[in-house]
Amino acid sequence: MRTQRQVVDYSLQKRALLRDVYSGRVGTYEVCDASPYLLSAARFHGEPTDQRCPVCRRENLTHVHYIYGDELKQSAGQARSRAELPVLAMSVREVQVYVVEVCRGCGWNHLIEQFLMGRAALDAPALEVEAAAAGGWRSTVSVRAGSPRRSSMTREAAE
Ligand SMILES: [Zn+2]
Repeated sequence: MRTQRQVVDYSLQKRALLRDVYSGRVGTYEVCDASPYLLSAARFHGEPTDQRCPVCRRENLTHVHYIYGDELKQSAGQARSRAELPVLAMSVREVQVYVVEVCRGCGWNHLIEQFLMGRAALDAPALEVEAAAAGGWRSTVSVRAGSPRRSSMTREAAE
């Protein structure tokens, strides 16, 4: 997905929570609390993975993508399959995507990632978008001018 940007990774928080679960400081009933809505979203819109559930180790995890944004109107907060996201991204200026992993066996669930998608990344030259995000264009321009990799915005934004 070329327009994916401002990626926030929650794997550290997840690992910390799992440490507490494994050590017994946090009960599994506290973390295996997927709501009926989340389980149903996983069933109908989820992306199967080959990762084992870190809690029950019996089922593979499913990734659910939730979409938010003013332009989505009544669709905001709904789950979408991963395959639908690129199409959606081309139809709106900006959409916030939250990725939740869920185990349909034991109910373990955790936010693993969030990112922005949408045409906003394509409308303006990449320089302006990133400069606006960084709060100053001068440093951005000099960094990018020295970078041979101009194809991946996400990677350059992280540099
Ligand atoms: Zn599980």
